[in-house]
Amino acid sequence: MKKIIIANWKMNPESAKEAEALFKRVWLNGNKKQEGLDLVIAPPFIYLESLLAKAKSLKLKIKFGAQNCFWEKIGAYTGEISPLMLKDLGAEYVIAGHSERRNYLRESDEMICKKVNLISENKLIPVLCVGETLQQRQKGIQKNVVQEQLRKNLKDFKIHKGGSLIVAYEPVWAIGTGNYCKPEEALEMIKFIKEVLSLNLGHSSDKDIKVLYGGSVNSENVAAYVKYPEIDGALVGGASIKAKEFQKLINEVFKTAKTESAQK
Ligand code: PEP
Repeated sequence: MKKIIIANWKMNPESAKEAEALFKRVWLNGNKKQEGLDLVIAPPFIYLESLLAKAKSLKLKIKFGAQNCFWEKIGAYTGEISPLMLKDLGAEYVIAGHSERRNYLRESDEMICKKVNLISENKLIPVLCVGETLQQRQKGIQKNVVQEQLRKNLKDFKIHKGGSLIVAYEPVWAIGTGNYCKPEEALEMIKFIKEVLSLNLGHSSDKDIKVLYGGSVNSENVAAYVKYPEIDGALVGGASIKAKEFQKLINEVFKTAKTESAQK
């Protein structure tokens, strides 16, 4: 199965010129081997349009995502961006429930649930982030926390015809800290998430549901995650805005995908 790597640029870089330069450095210099991989960039909203146009003009097979959206289609919601607008622009993915938004913006499970449903209804692919805090892990309640997030964030969720869902397991303590989750522990949680999803959504098709790991993924540790067939890829923050590092990371995933297909 194709692995997926999503580059979450967060609020970087600081100008449109820099964004274009980063895009060129990563994608135009040697990053042409994309077979066996789905590559998605989620830049800040404001850079989406020009990068999409650039990728299109260069016939690159890169896909684009947004880091957030609002939970209503249109109307008097100052400062917000709707999934309709993202769809119109050509984005295919939208991240929802990232821990930085749950934390700094106080996004509730209810808000995230509304977003995930609207993203999917508008034929975009939601990338729902879930994960426990350090305190919760120290108490050993990480599975309960993640199960509760899935229950609340995917209440009434349906995969629409032709659509799909991505869940990213992102332990909060691993994000941006360098303190990544041991691959075996990530694997255990991802298997658990897949079980919960297949029970909750009554859906067992791997094709429609992918579960990624995110949290301090870099070129040195990425292979240890994606080597497991159950881990469908990675959501990458910090390492995705360092051109050379991200190229190395993609090459590592590419090598794993190639080894897997050679073994079949
Ligand atoms: C993220 O922002 O989703 C993330 C995983 O960040 P980092 O890779 O920097 O830990």
